Amino acid sequence: MEEVVGYSYRLRPGRDAESALFQEWHRCRFLWNEAVHQYKSGRKPTFSTLSKLLTSARARCQWLREGSQVAQQQMLRTFALALDHSFTAKNRRGRPKRKARKTAHPSLEYTKRGSSIRDRRLILAKGLSIPVVWSRELPSEPTSVRVTHDSLGHWYATFIVRRTVEPLPSTGAGIGIDWGVTCTATTTDPAFDLPHLGHRSRCAAELARAQRKMARRRRGKMGPQSRGFQRAAHQVAKLNKRAARQTRHESRVWAKKVVSKHDLIAVEDFRPGFLAKSTMARKAADAAIGAAKNELIDRGMRAGRKVVVVQPAYTTMTCSSCFARAKQQLGLGERTFQCRECGYMSGRDRNAARVVLAVAERGHTRVDDVSQSDHLLRADGAVAV
Ligand SMILES: [Zn+2]
Repeated sequence: MEEVVGYSYRLRPGRDAESALFQEWHRCRFLWNEAVHQYKSGRKPTFSTLSKLLTSARARCQWLREGSQVAQQQMLRTFALALDHSFTAKNRRGRPKRKARKTAHPSLEYTKRGSSIRDRRLILAKGLSIPVVWSRELPSEPTSVRVTHDSLGHWYATFIVRRTVEPLPSTGAGIGIDWGVTCTATTTDPAFDLPHLGHRSRCAAELARAQRKMARRRRGKMGPQSRGFQRAAHQVAKLNKRAARQTRHESRVWAKKVVSKHDLIAVEDFRPGFLAKSTMARKAADAAIGAAKNELIDRGMRAGRKVVVVQPAYTTMTCSSCFARAKQQLGLGERTFQCRECGYMSGRDRNAARVVLAVAERGHTRVDDVSQSDHLLRADGAVAV
């Protein structure tokens, strides 16, 4: 089996190379904004029309010719894809927007035609040569590379490569997962729980402090911001990045463990923003859940596991043993679930995880779809309804 993945590395461009990258970015950004202008004035530009426009624009404009044609074409291709996607998507929020000079982060894509690796350096079109920090080896020759610049001023290259994967052995086991604030993931098997670690909340507290500092130093809309503000903003970006990295690392390790041991993975659906309207610590918990869920679904699908996303309605109110539903929702403070019908008692989140798994095992995605008789019949091993 083969899969397509991205391998990222830090880049260390010199001063000349960096300014050349920025120049390249401004040309691409200009083209992107032109394309946005096109669709705003009533046309829906496709990649082929944009490509033709690019050819004629390059013939006329010296400034555009100084840049790489590959990068410019890829920018327009990305635009056309984003526009197409926004038309097929249900909401219109995803329409491509103008990229402002001050706020948009540079992102350039080169295909094999515009990039290569020579003497362990990344060589880009127009003679750009950039040292790469090879933190690990590439598994195969890359088909394309995306060069990005983040809010901390660091440059990265993400190489798109194919790699072979060994199919995971079948285990016959299933797992149910419920998301929460105190414990990011509670599963049907306590050995696979993902606790919300202390250093994450410490990180959140640090971040909240840095954000207050930034707010104190803000000058409003009058004039440029002070040095002090910029330093504080940099600190915030740094902490944000560190937190995101930690979260990503932990969810990767966890997801790998879960996927390797289970054939059926049933996850409660989770919509971020539900908890995010409160403190920094809550937001961190929210982010941790989002990252863990995405990582798990992604890895599960790639490994060919059965991944079922179960709607969260009633998962905490339903008994995982007899499927009777409690009359009232459990308060957030109540940590144990006790069934009035059969007397089953367990931790609130553990019960929810078991419900999620039970729903998926019966081939459904909503608690409502599982009737009590259906549940009992299958639990007894009798013929399914
Ligand atoms: Zn019960």
